[in-house]
Amino acid sequence: MTLLKKRLKIDKIVIENSVANLPLTAKILKTFEDLPIEFVEAITLSKIGYRPGELIVAQRRGKSIKNCPGTPVYQCCDYYVLNLGIGCFFNCHYCFLHHYMNSPLMIFVNLSELIADVREFCSRRPKRIFRVGSGEFVDSLGLDEIVDFNSILVPELSRIPNLLFEIKTKSKRVDHLLKLDHRGRVVISWSLNPQEIIDEDEPETDSLIDRIKAAARCQEAGYRVGLHFDPMIYYSGWEAGYSEVVDMVFSNLRADRISWISLGALRFNAALKPIIKKKFPGSKLILGELIPGLDKKLRYFLPIRRRMFAVAVKRIRFHTKDVPVYLCMEDAALAADVGASRLSQGDY
Ligand code: SF4
Repeated sequence: MTLLKKRLKIDKIVIENSVANLPLTAKILKTFEDLPIEFVEAITLSKIGYRPGELIVAQRRGKSIKNCPGTPVYQCCDYYVLNLGIGCFFNCHYCFLHHYMNSPLMIFVNLSELIADVREFCSRRPKRIFRVGSGEFVDSLGLDEIVDFNSILVPELSRIPNLLFEIKTKSKRVDHLLKLDHRGRVVISWSLNPQEIIDEDEPETDSLIDRIKAAARCQEAGYRVGLHFDPMIYYSGWEAGYSEVVDMVFSNLRADRISWISLGALRFNAALKPIIKKKFPGSKLILGELIPGLDKKLRYFLPIRRRMFAVAVKRIRFHTKDVPVYLCMEDAALAADVGASRLSQGDY
């Protein structure tokens, strides 16, 4: 347990009174029984006084499911986000969560209410299939190290006939998922990057080969998997680096059990630049020319993005003609140009 606490960097538990008696709260208290605990009234993120190292156990209020924070100027992949908490101990250098760099890790434990929300949301349009993922403000499997969310979510959400639930991660820890009843309606997805980028900008995550091996184990357990080459980083050797990742994928995974592959180039709000500079001095992420896109986020010049996507699509198509490949936060013209498609309901 000491190891777990060290890895998660948690040294105190703060519990909102309204969730004090929920079963997941009891589990957290048992896991971290020797840590100091504080009970508080309603928590709001803007409230000053919490600090990194604290695990806030809270109630999710308001809508628990919402549209992916895409932007109308770029092609949308029709994705919905289920918000289970905010914060991540993987600490990737480019992560937008660094905007909240002095915030604690917050998790929402009123899970029955969240599940009921998703059920109600999907029931409003029963003829449509909703693709919903939990990896927007957290790493979907990272949270399981604190309390095993997915052992509850997978069997429950997979009962919803028009829902495809996506677990998105950079973790290799999948043992607890293998025996779950997923009814073929859960996709487990990995973000992938060349190992040199993982060493440089995702150093606290699991290695490339471990992620791919974990994906293979999930395929053997009957899951479909998704892959996200996102964010693709432009560096000296990128072409060989990303080509090798694609080759590794197809020599370890069954193409017919890959639901989708997305490609997205590095992009971030300008306000993140000084934060990266301060927090990760020497990071190459902010070197080179980045320009504001239509969504105001900084990104590589179009010819660079086009080249990176074209190389990746070509390599993927060398291995498979069938797996849908789509671009994240890019427009339809660029997608068509590089041979990517728009992910549609018929694809999943
Ligand atoms: S794993 Fe995802 S959520 Fe966690 S730090 Fe990295 S980019 Fe952010």
